[in-house]
This record gives sequence, structure tokens and C-alpha cells, in this order.
Amino acid sequence: MGTRNLDRMPKTWSLRSSRPNFIWIAKCMNCGRKSPVPVGKMLERFGEKEILMRAAMKLKCDGCERSGADVYQGELPDPAPGQSMF
Ligand SMILES: [Zn+2]
Repeated sequence: MGTRNLDRMPKTWSLRSSRPNFIWIAKCMNCGRKSPVPVGKMLERFGEKEILMRAAMKLKCDGCERSGADVYQGELPDPAPGQSMF
């Protein structure tokens, strides 16, 4: 049994795969802007074993420049934004 719930939370390596027709999306907690998660950059910056939510809190929004995002698998935003969040 885990010592803390953190052990059971998704880690950044989860970003390597997603459901068919879904991508990983980061949604700004401040302004609600959505962008595709820059998976390669995140793995480079945080490694594969960081807790996904914790890494997401460090993403910076292009729109409002605040940090903190929800990361989840979702269908492609329509229209897809040209910029990624970071
Ligand atoms: Zn924002």
C-alpha cells in the first residue's frame, strides 16, 4: 500500500501515450486558455517521473503569463492553436 496518494498519481511519462484521437491538453487555471501539451519539452524539463499535476503547475500560459494548468487528455481544440503553452 502506498504511503501517500502522490505515489498513485499520473507521472510525466504518461504523456508518452494518449487515447486514439486524443491529445494531451493543458488548460490555464487562470484564463482558461487551452493548448496542446509540449510533451517533448515537458519530459526534457521535468524528466519522466515527475508527478504530472506538479509539472503542470509550472507551465506558463502564453495568454495571461500566469503559471498553473490542468493537464488532461482531450480532443483536439477547434481550431487548433498554433502556439504551445510554455
Ligand atoms: Zn492563462
